[in-house]
Amino acid sequence: MSPDDYTVGWVCALDIELAPAQEMLDEEHEKLRRTTHDQNIYTLGRIGKHNVVIATLPSGKTGIGAAAVVTSRMRQTFRFIEFWLLVGIGGGVPSRKADIRLGDVAVSRPEGIHPGVVQWDFGKTNPNGFERTGALNNPSLILLSGLTHIRSRYDRGGSKLMEYVANFPGPKYTRPDTEDILFKSEYNHVGEIGSECTECDQQNRVNRRRRRTNEAAVHYGTIASGNEVVKSPVLRDAISASLGNVVCIEMEAAGLMNDFPCLVIRGISDYADSHKNDDWQRYAALTAAAYAKDLLTEITLPETLKPVLKSEPKPKPKPVTTASSSGFSPYSRALPVGTMDIMQMTAGTPATAAVIWVIRQGIAPVDPAIPALDVENVVIGQKRAG
Ligand SMILES: [Zn+2]
Repeated sequence: MSPDDYTVGWVCALDIELAPAQEMLDEEHEKLRRTTHDQNIYTLGRIGKHNVVIATLPSGKTGIGAAAVVTSRMRQTFRFIEFWLLVGIGGGVPSRKADIRLGDVAVSRPEGIHPGVVQWDFGKTNPNGFERTGALNNPSLILLSGLTHIRSRYDRGGSKLMEYVANFPGPKYTRPDTEDILFKSEYNHVGEIGSECTECDQQNRVNRRRRRTNEAAVHYGTIASGNEVVKSPVLRDAISASLGNVVCIEMEAAGLMNDFPCLVIRGISDYADSHKNDDWQRYAALTAAAYAKDLLTEITLPETLKPVLKSEPKPKPKPVTTASSSGFSPYSRALPVGTMDIMQMTAGTPATAAVIWVIRQGIAPVDPAIPALDVENVVIGQKRAG
């Protein structure tokens, strides 16, 4: 296996999210040799027909910046990653619209003007209040179609999520015995931070109907991402209200989605309030990973990109007309007409990866002094600036 054989990038933020991710692999592949430009350690393997590369953030590092660093290295090593999944835990935002419980799964899906993930703490303060600036990428169309299909299968009783959860070996990730309690927003935790709610007043719990089974439900909608841990239900509810109903709050997604489209899958481990503790984290990480695996089985392999390119013999480079008139970048002089336009339009998608691959193979005439990665960076830079 070479790095070019991997088409799915799976990113975990926490140590406890790695074991469930690894356990979802149908087979594990041998590790690659480390290169000087890439300090990440990867787990490689296969889920169904997809070759998957799993990376974690360095131990103790969380947040948007750390996620961006890890994935940009990963992207340089694995040039054919077609889509990205960010899989792990997050804080649930229960509302009248979504009856979210611990161990459920939240999935980012574009809603209205939002692309599935919104960085809630990024913007500027002006006399009218806080204005959110910048827009994140939408998940790729293939992932969005995958969501439609898996939802339909779940509606027809075909979920495999709990089967994958049940297959996890050992007791560490089993469903906790501690009761799933949601307290009223105005009621704060009594006792040490992170301790169980043994001293909290049960009169202040929100009355919710009992669920018939412990099966994890899946909630689709906007996920709010920020650099700050949200432990206040007032802030949680304010973020949700300002974004028009959020299903989950987490800390890494914006770091990935700034650069390329990804789908965020979060197991709900707390309610982003002062009562939050670690009890449900492992189980929530497992339900998220199980959903990710189930989703991958809905998505077909890209047949038209790499396999076709690989089987074609390399034609000899011949002179072609160049796009000197575009004025897009100094590099565009050396590329065939339209190449840079296509790359600019499709930055971060398999089409861009395919063009870069073609250039690297010498099929397209390009100035050998310019590494293809520079071309890629220029395209991404232009895309961001635009
Ligand atoms: Zn409490």
